[in-house]
Amino acid sequence: MNILQRLQELLGRFVVKMQQFMVGRYGNDEFTMFLLIASLIFTFSGNFRPLRILYFIGSILIFYSLFRSLSKNYEARRKELNWYLRWSEKPKAELKLLGNRIRDRKTHKYFKCKECKTVLRVPVGRGKIEITCPKCRARVIKKT
Ligand SMILES: [Zn+2]
Repeated sequence: MNILQRLQELLGRFVVKMQQFMVGRYGNDEFTMFLLIASLIFTFSGNFRPLRILYFIGSILIFYSLFRSLSKNYEARRKELNWYLRWSEKPKAELKLLGNRIRDRKTHKYFKCKECKTVLRVPVGRGKIEITCPKCRARVIKKT
C-alpha cells in the first residue's frame, strides 16, 4: 500500500467517525447562525483595547453555539430556538421596515395609523389626500 492510499483510507475513516459523532446531535439552526454572527462581531470589536470584554463575550457565544450544535437534547434546543424566533420577530420586522424606508425615501412616505399603529405607505407628491387605514378603516388626511 502506498502513502496516498494510506492517507485516503485515514481520511475516509475520519469522515465516517465524524458522521458517527454527529448522529443524533442537534446541528445548526437560525439561532446558532445568529450566535455565530454575533460572536464574530463581538470578538472582532474586542480587538480594540477598551472593548476587551466583548472578546470574552464573543468567545462564550462561540462555545455556546458549538454546544448547541453538538447537543443531543433536541427539546431544550428547540425551546431556545422558539424563544429566539419570538424575541427576534420585532427587531427583524423593524430592520426590514427601515430598509424599505431607505429604499423608498424618494417615492413614498411612511407613517403610523393613529388608531391601530399599522405602518402605512403612501406615494409622495399627491398633495393633500385622505387615507383609509386598510386594517382599522380609520381615516386620516395627510400631505404627501
Ligand atoms: Zn389603522
